[in-house]
Amino acid sequence: MNQSNSAEEKLAMLEKRLTQSIQSRKQLEDEYQHDWIHFSNMLTQLSYACGGLDHNLDNSLTKLRGLLQRNSGMEQLKPVMAESEAHIQSLVHRVQLNLKASHEATTETIDWLKKQTSVDKKARLELQKIIDSTQSQHVSIMHYMPLMMSLLNYCQRVGSQIIEQPSLSYAEQQKAVLKLISQLEFTGTTEQQLVLLAKQLKGNLPTEQLLNVLVSLLETIIDGINLERQSAQNFLLEISQTLGTVQGTLSQSVHERSHYDEDNSALNHQLKLNVDELNASVQSAQHLETLKQDVAGHLARLNKTLREKLALETKEKQQHERTTAKLTSKLTHFEQQVHHYKQKLAEQKFKSLQDSLTKLPNRAALEERMSIEEQRFKRTREPLSIAVLDIDLFKRINDNFGHSAGDKTLQVIASMLRKAVNEADFVCRYGGEEFVILFPNTPITDAQARLEKACDRIRNIPFKFRSEDIRITVSVGIAELQQVNQSLTSLFDAADKALYEAKRTGRNKIVLAGAASN
Ligand code: GH3
Ligand code: MG
Ligand code: MG
Repeated sequence: MNQSNSAEEKLAMLEKRLTQSIQSRKQLEDEYQHDWIHFSNMLTQLSYACGGLDHNLDNSLTKLRGLLQRNSGMEQLKPVMAESEAHIQSLVHRVQLNLKASHEATTETIDWLKKQTSVDKKARLELQKIIDSTQSQHVSIMHYMPLMMSLLNYCQRVGSQIIEQPSLSYAEQQKAVLKLISQLEFTGTTEQQLVLLAKQLKGNLPTEQLLNVLVSLLETIIDGINLERQSAQNFLLEISQTLGTVQGTLSQSVHERSHYDEDNSALNHQLKLNVDELNASVQSAQHLETLKQDVAGHLARLNKTLREKLALETKEKQQHERTTAKLTSKLTHFEQQVHHYKQKLAEQKFKSLQDSLTKLPNRAALEERMSIEEQRFKRTREPLSIAVLDIDLFKRINDNFGHSAGDKTLQVIASMLRKAVNEADFVCRYGGEEFVILFPNTPITDAQARLEKACDRIRNIPFKFRSEDIRITVSVGIAELQQVNQSLTSLFDAADKALYEAKRTGRNKIVLAGAASN
């Protein structure tokens, strides 16, 4: 009984263990199946994520998915897995190289954007934020995507600011070229062409068009120089031709004159002979009848010789008149040529001494005039005063309302100054927004009175820029020549020092040299 009990128990135990084993095995198989499905899904997701990044990786992953779907064994999976791993490694390497190159290109772009001075403050702050986010060392695609997006957005937004506004250096160079053009002293068509090109240059031209205008400018200048040279050559040629003709006419006239002298002295000799013969006949005459006949014969010869002499003189006179007329006409033509050239030179000289913007005399003209006044002072000891004027805070006009508004202001103030002082006073634009006035035969107090009137009128000009009412003031320094040996340059310096004092002590005032404290 005991034996059969224990056999049954053992059987039951074995059965129980078998059931447990079957369950464990089932559980293992389930887990394995679960993991397999999980792995397959993950592989599918990975294939999608990496799809299109690398052709070889795509192929390996497709192969691997196929093997997993067919439940292939590990032996078949292993080599394909190794192949996929190698492709992934090479892809990672390439992505890192690309990221490095993009990082460098982005830094360059940001550097360029940083240099664009025309963008507003808000845009500058935005760019700084982008710059801060590029400083991170952890470079990854995920890091780059938003960075690229913000950079693109930034460029799109501020692009128009960058393109529309010329950079400072462009504006400065444009100003320098325009100034150089205004200093060129051509006349006629060259001058008209230059005015046209200067107008074009004033606009904000795209680079390609700007180059075209600059090329045309150079061509115009070269043509102008050639034209001037050609016309000077023609002038000299004409002068030399005229002189050649005059010389020819003169030598011909001298030659003819010597012929005339020879013929005339032969005729004079003949006349003398005729008169001598007549005398001899009268002296030796015995009979009145023969004397009458002899005298008649002699008178006839005398008459003939006299007619010949008269004809010779008339011919010589006509010849002389012809030569004189020829010479007069040549010399008149010559005179016209010289007059034309003199006029041209005077025109050029006038232009070189005139400021093109305000049409006032320029600094070169002032220097010429100063030396004349200096000499005059030494001769006459008449009082002489000089004033240096500078527009107050003029830069603000340019900054707030543009360069053309500044130019217009200079023109208005120049014309007001010219009108406000006496006609004999010499008003010039010294440069920029500075003017100099020479007051001949004027003591400093009179000059001061005239300037006070002028400053007052300037102060009351109702400038209107962009519908804003603007008032403009000037500061002035004046000095009067005291001693004969004082140079006008040192007088100018004294007035300039007084001007500095006017600026230093609040602007919008006139300061007299000597009264300026240090
Ligand atoms: P201050 O009262 O101290 O003289 O101040 P300011 O602004 O007048 O003096 P500053 O010397 O700083 O500026 C002078 C300005 O004049 C700067 C320059 O751009 C301007 N300017 C000079 N020449 C011309 C010109 O021909 N046309 C225009 N529009 N501006 C000019
Ligand atoms: Mg100044
Ligand atoms: Mg000024």
